[in-house]
Amino acid sequence: MNLKNSKFFKRIQELRHFSKEKIRKDREKRTHVVRALDMALNEQPCLDREWFSPEQSPPLQPMSPRRRMKKTRCLKRRAAAGKQVGDNSPYYGPSSGENSPMPADEAKLQGFIQLNNKTYRVECPTRVLNPPMNVDEERPASETKSTICVSNSRYAMIGKISKTLGYKLVKESKMWNILWSDSFPGVELFKNMKRFQQINHFPGMIEICRKDLLSRNLNRMLKIFPQDYKIFPKTWMLPADYGDAMNYALNHKRTFILKPDSGAQGRGIWLTNDLKTIGPHERLICQTYINRPLLIDGYKFDLRVYTLITSVDPLRIFVYNEGLARFATNKYVEPTPGNANDLYMHLTNYSVNKRNSHYELCDNDDCGSKRKLSAINTWMRRHNYDVEEFWSNVDDVIIKTVLSAWPVLKHNYHACFPGHDKIQACFEILGFDILVDWKLKPYILEVNHSPSFHTNEQVDREVKRPLIRDTLNLVSTVLADKRQILKEDRKRVKQRLLKIRGDPPVQRPRLGGGTSKPKIDAQKGGPDAQPVDVEPEAEDHGPLAQQIAWEESHLGNFRKIMPPPDLSKLDYYTRFYAQSNQVSIFAETAASKKREDLARKMRIQIEEKKAKQQQMLNGNAKRDARKRHTVLLPRAVRERNRMNLFRLRENWSPGFISDAEERLRHTWLHMRAEAIRTLKITENILVRRSTAISTKLDS
Ligand code: ADP
Repeated sequence: MNLKNSKFFKRIQELRHFSKEKIRKDREKRTHVVRALDMALNEQPCLDREWFSPEQSPPLQPMSPRRRMKKTRCLKRRAAAGKQVGDNSPYYGPSSGENSPMPADEAKLQGFIQLNNKTYRVECPTRVLNPPMNVDEERPASETKSTICVSNSRYAMIGKISKTLGYKLVKESKMWNILWSDSFPGVELFKNMKRFQQINHFPGMIEICRKDLLSRNLNRMLKIFPQDYKIFPKTWMLPADYGDAMNYALNHKRTFILKPDSGAQGRGIWLTNDLKTIGPHERLICQTYINRPLLIDGYKFDLRVYTLITSVDPLRIFVYNEGLARFATNKYVEPTPGNANDLYMHLTNYSVNKRNSHYELCDNDDCGSKRKLSAINTWMRRHNYDVEEFWSNVDDVIIKTVLSAWPVLKHNYHACFPGHDKIQACFEILGFDILVDWKLKPYILEVNHSPSFHTNEQVDREVKRPLIRDTLNLVSTVLADKRQILKEDRKRVKQRLLKIRGDPPVQRPRLGGGTSKPKIDAQKGGPDAQPVDVEPEAEDHGPLAQQIAWEESHLGNFRKIMPPPDLSKLDYYTRFYAQSNQVSIFAETAASKKREDLARKMRIQIEEKKAKQQQMLNGNAKRDARKRHTVLLPRAVRERNRMNLFRLRENWSPGFISDAEERLRHTWLHMRAEAIRTLKITENILVRRSTAISTKLDS
């Protein structure tokens, strides 16, 4: 049998040919990249669109008809998709968002390489990083470049959506672009991050995500801005503020809600109007209860507002337009001792209310124990509430809450990521729990750093899936060129190892490096802080400008609330930057610690006093018992005891006095008298005393 004619042999030949072709293509692509980088490194400004484009540059080898056909097919497919690659370009800026389609032959990714303060424009058709906007449109894994690690998240949805967006799922040990974790990672991880990597938590966000720390920060701001920071119910941290809370309770007839300081999901919460029932040692958050909340259909509810922070310095906050309203499952009645234990009436947590048989699952907008924010907006409009004003107030609460921890966030970010100069090292989705009272005033109850992404109900899926998709589209991951950064880092390490001298080390600009001084002052709240626009100029092509341009053109269903679009509002928020400096934060920390220390000392003293009293009482009791015991002795014995004591006293005589000791004592007394006389000690004392008296009299 002729082997060459067999099917198997032909297949092998085909595969060999295929792999050869692939290797050749890869090599070709690499040559382009190397050429482009060489040009950039040689500081030759690129001629606009003339290089770095395999489509336009002369091909290295004559293109085979098969390849040409494949290429034409590929271009046609891209054009047919109606979504140009250039649409997703990070550098087009706000003017060229998704609504500005480009012709298919201009579908290239434009970018800038910055070297020695010069900016070079490059076109890179091979760097197709951004995903198609349609989540359902699956992208082949071979086309993806960005990688994401979701192994530290329990929500399968994150991985699924990332995949549909063209991300490749990788393990934590690999060079991921994004690490999505449900918990706060350790500082070690932050410190080891490369400049193209991003993580979904900011170091220090705990400052607003733990109930006790949030209360402390908000209370501090309330002290400085009593009019502006009435955004949360009156809160005391027990046991440190035990006295203050008791004092308030004495003068105000209010219901209080008590929560464990780091609890969640409604665990350990109860209502009371008698604070005396709380022990002075219990660690709790005590809050005034908002007893007239806004009711829909007679039920209390709270709002889960999803907020994305993409940068802390400068502060950039986005709020998702869709979210959840979570309803209590028993009709609301103002708290009384009779109903205070009814958690299905007073708490709106899903984890609490799902246990109630009245929990309502509903796919319509106007019913169910979980509804979309858009449904609440419709309800408000129907009842003639000013929805725009309400959401502007909610935005205000969110901004002020974040600002209360801003100095710590900024400090921690710069401490953890001193060299992250290309993109932000972090982004974070926070879940703000907002309670609305009957006057439509929003109050912040809690901030969650890992809001639940469970999708048990249809409404969850409708809100959370687009939220994750829009977040991954908005974050600036695509702006960092992983390969180039790694190359730069390797070069730098090499230089350091070889200890190349002469050239001063190139200072990496900070991400906010493009911002001018007054702007930085305004952000930092420095002495000459001016209310100015925080956005850098459009012509500033620094990484921060690129990030801003990217974010503005990829908002999805997010709205930007910080920096606010309205300049007068920016002016208003500048004062909070200015006042919340670190000194006051740490002073407050020290003060509250001191207060806690004092409270502890007082408690210890009180306890000691009590113990002493108890001891005394016990002591008296013992003496009484002894007395009682003595009285109880038989009379003959008592008489004998008394006689013995008398005899002892009768027979007392002084002890032996030795002559030698007496003589020694005399000699010492004599020596002392001699010394006083020869040194004139008595005269000296008298003279000094008389001069002191005379000067006193003179004056
Ligand atoms: P957890 O983290 O345990 O969920 P929260 O502070 O969010 O604790 O409180 C749980 C629920 O209790 C809220 O969803 C809200 O319905 C209710 N609640 C909390 N604080 C207040 C308050 N000050 N006034 C009225 N209701 C409150």
